Amino acid sequence: LTVLGSLVLSLMVGVLCYYTLMLRQSPERALMRGIRHGEFFVEYQPVFHTATSAIAGIEALLRWQHPTEGRISPDLFIPYAEDEGLIIPLTRHLFSIIITDIPQLVQAMPRGAKLGINLSPSHLNAPSFHDDVSQLRAKLPGDYFTLLFEITERGMVEEENALAEFDWLHRQGIEIAVDDFGTGHSALIYLQRFTLDYLKIDRGFVNAIGQDTATAPVLDAVISLAKKLKMRTVAEGVETAEQVSFLQEHHVDYMQGYYFSKPLRIKALMEFCFDYQATI
Ligand code: C2E
Ligand code: MG
Ligand code: MG
Ligand code: MG
Repeated sequence: LTVLGSLVLSLMVGVLCYYTLMLRQSPERALMRGIRHGEFFVEYQPVFHTATSAIAGIEALLRWQHPTEGRISPDLFIPYAEDEGLIIPLTRHLFSIIITDIPQLVQAMPRGAKLGINLSPSHLNAPSFHDDVSQLRAKLPGDYFTLLFEITERGMVEEENALAEFDWLHRQGIEIAVDDFGTGHSALIYLQRFTLDYLKIDRGFVNAIGQDTATAPVLDAVISLAKKLKMRTVAEGVETAEQVSFLQEHHVDYMQGYYFSKPLRIKALMEFCFDYQATI
């Protein structure tokens, strides 16, 4: 059994090494070729208003379907693109995919829906940042969507330009969310330094509901902290009915997770939204 176990383990390690090596060998080429060859696509995950159950918006999540490696997780290729200085072309590519989906998104989403996009912190400091954002905004239909940029806690703390850039984004009518709140090791001071619109409670916290008794008071504190700072709260990774009722009772403003819907390609998102509208 142990022999079999170690065999399986070394096989897994082997696969992982190969995977990493494959990307390390010609990182730039693999990614840039992926962009040119249309290997990237976007899935959209709906976000729901807790009080009314209405669809409040979507989060765009980038996907890479590599021709030989198959699906590569954004948890792998995003940090990698950040390290290799490729995050800006990749994000511009993401914007261009979203732009091609706009006509369908308008059909699927109610007016005023939030269009959530994850932004890499380093992009904030890039000379092209304003141009990149302005070009995206120019392609959005009037005020149909509210753009919402999601930035992790780490990004809040590490980027010196954040304060000025957040002000600029707000002047453009763009909202800002702290993503994965509670996973960073950051001091909470950034919460009062910046004007932030949403606090996205990491799915690690949400997962612990009903499993770990220490979670309830921590979540309670997080939610009331957000309220005091006039931030709206979003729970991510909601998977069970038990989590839903907990979050309702604790007045979390928005919910997102497999319980409602997985991230969906544009066609499936449209079907989901039409069916969902019919049921509520
Ligand atoms: P995130 O922004 O926190 O995105 C939420 C992640 O949780 C997504 O994983 C989503 O598929 C997953 N998720 C949603 N609901 C559930 C649930 O109920 N249960 C579980 N177990 N998972 C759920 P994904 O798509 O693998 O993305 C991982 C991370 O990669 C994202 O975390 C985000 O930080 C980053 N990312 C994805 N797309 C982009 C992008 O276009 N740009 C940048 N800069 N980062 C991106
Ligand atoms: Mg996010
Ligand atoms: Mg998140
Ligand atoms: Mg996350």
